[in-house]
Amino acid sequence: MNNKLSSSSSSSPKSTCIWVPGPVIVGAGPSGLAAAACLKEKGVPSLILERSNCIASLWQHKTYDRLHLHLPKQFCELPMMGFPSNFPTYPTKQQFIGYLENYAENFGIRPRFNETVKHAEFDPKLGFWHLKCVDKAEIVSEFVCKWLIVATGENAEAVVPNIEGIEEFGGCIKHTSLYKSGEEFRGKKVLVVGCGNSGMEVCLDLCNYDAIPSLVVRDSVHILPREMVGISTFGLSMWLLQWLPIRVVDRLLLIISWLMLGDTSHLGLDRPTLGPLQLKHHSGKTPVLDVGTLAKIKGGDIKEEGMFCKEDGFPRKPFPNGWKGENGLYAVGFTKKGLLGASIDAKRIAQDIERCWKDEIKHISLTYSIMMSFDQCS
Ligand SMILES: Cc1cc2nc3c(=O)[nH]c(=O)nc-3n(C[C@H](O)[C@H](O)[C@H](O)COP(=O)(O)OP(=O)(O)OC[C@H]3O[C@@H](n4cnc5c(N)ncnc54)[C@H](O)[C@@H]3O)c2cc1C
Repeated sequence: MNNKLSSSSSSSPKSTCIWVPGPVIVGAGPSGLAAAACLKEKGVPSLILERSNCIASLWQHKTYDRLHLHLPKQFCELPMMGFPSNFPTYPTKQQFIGYLENYAENFGIRPRFNETVKHAEFDPKLGFWHLKCVDKAEIVSEFVCKWLIVATGENAEAVVPNIEGIEEFGGCIKHTSLYKSGEEFRGKKVLVVGCGNSGMEVCLDLCNYDAIPSLVVRDSVHILPREMVGISTFGLSMWLLQWLPIRVVDRLLLIISWLMLGDTSHLGLDRPTLGPLQLKHHSGKTPVLDVGTLAKIKGGDIKEEGMFCKEDGFPRKPFPNGWKGENGLYAVGFTKKGLLGASIDAKRIAQDIERCWKDEIKHISLTYSIMMSFDQCS
């Protein structure tokens, strides 16, 4: 389907220019494959350009061994082909990769591998897209097409924060995309930075390999059980959303989570003010589905850093989350925001303590009335 237009270009004597009659899709992950299959079904041929040497390179090269789909399989299948019925509810990473390979095979999708798209530009005069790619040997290819579909993924690039002084740290530093298993960390102390689904699962994996992980949590986070009343939390949410407004569904999810997991703020994991689904809707921040990590935190297998930073004495969590620690510990006036910050802290602390205080009073008066009735009986 590709027609070579010319064999020279100004940028490199080796470059070739290929005319693609259908759309070019950049990326052979699940999204790119799904787009190619749907186009094929409509009779439209397409070409996938993939920088890696395989389909689903994120899943094949950049994920840890124990990874399973976080969501039940019925919510993860690509268009026009379900998962095999003998797959478990949460397929393993290998099963998911196998499914994607079958998917590509089934729809006759043959991406062009080792092609990194470096540049794409629309030519308004001609009405065509012009792409420049390089392969492993740095040979440049150019593609011309009418439609360009970007499927390069939300997580295609590792985001490593710029941590001051990190170069002085002598130990091993790894992004989760390079983490395979806790085997190499046996008996070692490991600091896991970030409390998303991956950070939480990596902590659990480290525990299972007898490492000693600690978790640093910058922000507030919604942790929900993976399943509620025997149904996947995601499935239950989708079902409830058909009948109830998102705010009500959020409330229900939080009540059930509280009943099942308890108050996560006691473990240093504060919940955001916005409910889990609303937060996802507004900011894209995904709630963490607990696969057993919380029990390890409760059991003390996963440590969390203390409330205050050893170096400067300030709360580790930045404003507005630095006011509350563990075991009834609070901080007011460490926000670097003057009296306004102190006032905000103070109000939050008072609200939080008021809640506990009222519960305490109820408990004390109940105990007192029980004691009085015993007294009168005797
Ligand atoms: C650990 C993990 C677990 C997840 N679990 C789930 C889950 O259970 N359920 C769920 O719904 N979602 C899950 N997701 C989110 C999402 O579904 C996956 O990230 C999924 O792989 C996204 O597919 P994608 O094709 O959009 O992106 P990717 O899988 O990232 O694929 C993008 C492709 O584009 C290629 N590419 C990038 N730039 C270029 C370029 N310039 N030129 C050529 N090729 C390029 C990359 O090499 C890659 O192969 C998970 C994500 C992660 C990281």
